Amino acid sequence: MSHEPFETLAAVYAAGALDGDDLAQFEAHLPGCAECQAAVREAQDTLARAMLSARPQTPLPAVREALVRRVERTRGAGRRAWLTWAAATAVVAAVAAGFTATWVAVRYEARLGQMARETAAVKERLARNEAALQEQVALYRGAVELLRDPATRVVDLRGQGTAASASGRMIWNDAGGGHLFVAGLPPAPAGKTYALWTISGGTPRAAGLFGVDASGRSAHRIAPEVARGAVGVFAVTLEPEGGTPAPTGPIVLASK
Ligand SMILES: [Zn+2]
Repeated sequence: MSHEPFETLAAVYAAGALDGDDLAQFEAHLPGCAECQAAVREAQDTLARAMLSARPQTPLPAVREALVRRVERTRGAGRRAWLTWAAATAVVAAVAAGFTATWVAVRYEARLGQMARETAAVKERLARNEAALQEQVALYRGAVELLRDPATRVVDLRGQGTAASASGRMIWNDAGGGHLFVAGLPPAPAGKTYALWTISGGTPRAAGLFGVDASGRSAHRIAPEVARGAVGVFAVTLEPEGGTPAPTGPIVLASK
């Protein structure tokens, strides 16, 4: 058999960590191979130096673990009892040097793949966040624009009934629509949604449906088309999902 596959086994053999078929094949190969004999001698020298050295060399963890397991097995069999666990570990450092190139490639390939996936996930998350932020900026810009108009009113809404602790603030312009900001409203039960009504002359007009986030907050835009005529009262009711032409559910928020 050619020398090639035994090259990296010499140091493992010197450490007494070789076993099974590897050991049998290496021992069959060794007497006829000067290179392997030299490699074993060199590894034994390394072992001797390592035992004298105060600073243990540390191989790659995965290589160390795999080889230490082998050392433990051979120790269990009583073979080469002179070899201490620490000394074997030190020699394995020399072995690891031979494995390094391969191990580094394998480990880093996996790691780079992982990093690429993580980067893609981060990019996707950032894109989503950016879209959400742009939406939010557009919303607040719209509210600020509305506030520039002297005809714009700011109307407070108070929580009613089971939503007594809720509050709302409407930025309203009879010509330009409005923005409703809500806080402290419990999430609507399944199959239900919140509906905003603009009431003028006792007649409620639907001004859109909205939900609240986990913290009970919402920002709801009311389009200019909805604002027709002077609005006297704003009210929010709990309605079936999909909405109704007129309010049917309990009032949760209302202006005075
Ligand atoms: Zn050889």
